Amino acid sequence: MIILVMNAGSSSLKYQLYDMLDESVLAKGRVERIGLDASIITHEPTNKPEVRQVKEILDHTTGVKRVIELLTHPEHGVLKSMNEIKAVGHRVVHGGESFKHSTIVDDNVKLEIRKLFDLAPLHNPPAMMGITAVETNLPDVPQTVVFDTAFHQTMPQETFLYPIPMVLYRRHKIRRYGFHGTSHDYVSRQAAAKLGKPLESLKMITCHIGNGASCTAILHGKSYDTSMGLTPLEGLMMGTRSGDLDPAIVPFTMDKEDLTLNEVSSMLNKHSGLQAISGLSSDMREITEAMQEGNKQAKLAFDMYMYRLRKYIGAYAAAMNGVDALVFTAGVGENSVITRQSVCEGITFLGIELDRARNEERSNESRLISTDESRVAVLVVPTNEELLIARDTYQIMMEQGKDSGIVEIEA
Ligand code: ADP
Repeated sequence: MIILVMNAGSSSLKYQLYDMLDESVLAKGRVERIGLDASIITHEPTNKPEVRQVKEILDHTTGVKRVIELLTHPEHGVLKSMNEIKAVGHRVVHGGESFKHSTIVDDNVKLEIRKLFDLAPLHNPPAMMGITAVETNLPDVPQTVVFDTAFHQTMPQETFLYPIPMVLYRRHKIRRYGFHGTSHDYVSRQAAAKLGKPLESLKMITCHIGNGASCTAILHGKSYDTSMGLTPLEGLMMGTRSGDLDPAIVPFTMDKEDLTLNEVSSMLNKHSGLQAISGLSSDMREITEAMQEGNKQAKLAFDMYMYRLRKYIGAYAAAMNGVDALVFTAGVGENSVITRQSVCEGITFLGIELDRARNEERSNESRLISTDESRVAVLVVPTNEELLIARDTYQIMMEQGKDSGIVEIEA
């Protein structure tokens, strides 16, 4: 079964085409600068040269049309006809409390996603544009939606509620939702498989640390607590986001600096974190390089980032009354040897023993980086959110097939 995975942003569309027979990627690519001058399409068919086109693409519908043209192109394509695409899976950031699992798109689902625009104004509207664009171009192809928040819907009330008036939860659904759920879900399963243990038997802490960063306590395979909250601003210190702070800083700063709501929100989301403290960059590579060259502000930014990450790991170990495995993933987690070392060597009391040589190995595979004697297994697991979206979509299609009596026969 051929499945197209789509991740639509406000001016971009990322795609990956899978053959689910062996989960191989047939092609991937992205459309950037949609609606702006000179949109760019980068198309990477597997085993064929990359194609880059600069074209005018005014909306997502045209973007999807161009993607389908490339996927079925006689020279650059990987499909004979668009009829080979059996389903399209979309990444949707916010599923609120309505969506606890991935699901097939119908009118009710679209209505629910629209209702959630308030909670994710930057992310859900573009995802909806992606769904509509596919509907226009591939009207007969079923679509599914996979939510970043769904994995965290297992959190109990005592971890997802904020201690503020309950009326705010009842009226506006103000609560912790958590994000990066697809990634935390994927890496926790991979880590359990790598350890050869059932996920249900483990207490795990997964650290998805990229530009955005979040930490999740996964108790017996289910999200028990996660560091991002109502929005992806809470929790760990990030590239440009502050993470946790005293909420009183918001009105205080607005008053002292004469800032509007939008300005203070932009300050915390775009001008804080590593960027603000280092005064240099939000990119962990640049921070660590500068630190190694003696830059004091870069070192302070690095130290604060590590301190806050260790505190979360400690808190989640306490919250679950123990931890069996610690997992690092995403840009920083997968690549930054010094980050993993600094985190692990500061929390040895938990029973973590890092194997420095294993930590320094470079690989794209899931791997153990703790010693064989370490009480807590530490792993690096490359995340693959697209693959999980493709798997969920495949699963839903197979279940639909079962209901309707259709049997999938691979050609
Ligand atoms: P996003 O949250 O945008 O998906 P990624 O997961 O791709 O981000 O992570 C991007 C971040 O990963 C970059 O900002 C960079 O700081 C970090 N990164 C990538 N490679 C390295 C590396 N070799 N060492 C340290 N940090 C790295």
